[in-house]
Amino acid sequence: MNHELFEQGRRDPLTQLGNRLRLMEDLVLIVGQAERYEKRYCAVMCDVDGFKSYNDFYGHLAGDEVLRSVAQTLIASCRDGDAAYRYGGEEFLLILPEQSEAKAAIAAERFRKSIETLALPHQTKSPPGVVTISAGVATLEPCDYKAAHLWLKRADEALYRAKQDGRNCVRVAEA
Ligand code: GH3
Ligand code: MG
Ligand code: MG
Repeated sequence: MNHELFEQGRRDPLTQLGNRLRLMEDLVLIVGQAERYEKRYCAVMCDVDGFKSYNDFYGHLAGDEVLRSVAQTLIASCRDGDAAYRYGGEEFLLILPEQSEAKAAIAAERFRKSIETLALPHQTKSPPGVVTISAGVATLEPCDYKAAHLWLKRADEALYRAKQDGRNCVRVAEA
């Protein structure tokens, strides 16, 4: 019972992914592993493109369904050991262990492609008229050990560049 309550409080009810609280707790462990054992981690911050207009056109409930589908698809595209979180409304964070930035960028491209391939119609968005995501990739660096939010901030900045560059694409944080 206590365990179930503990788990519930750390899961996003809509998508069943880990929520912000789970992420904050996991970040402490992740940084510890990186610091003590020099393990590498990359973050992939994903955001659904043009989601406000999706809600406006199809309705909020249909929007919720999209978020569920996107979450399930991201999980299915993950490898063992990867972790997925609902970071915010239509933002998802994936943390990939033991990956170089180049490999994480390839994984992020796989995530992007898997959502595009779902081919969920998004009439008010063109091209390509289907639901897409943009993604930003950043590596956990030793300078982040005391402030892990700076790591996620770099992933977010890379995501912002992906949006500026036209969406439905992946960008890697600048060193
Ligand atoms: P961009 O391509 O720049 O990301 O544009 P956007 O429209 O996706 O971004 P914006 O931040 O303007 O809108 C995000 C929308 O996500 C607005 C908000 O209503 C919607 N949203 C957030 N959480 C949920 C949710 O749980 N369910 C639904 N249906 N919509 C949500
Ligand atoms: Mg957003
Ligand atoms: Mg968005």
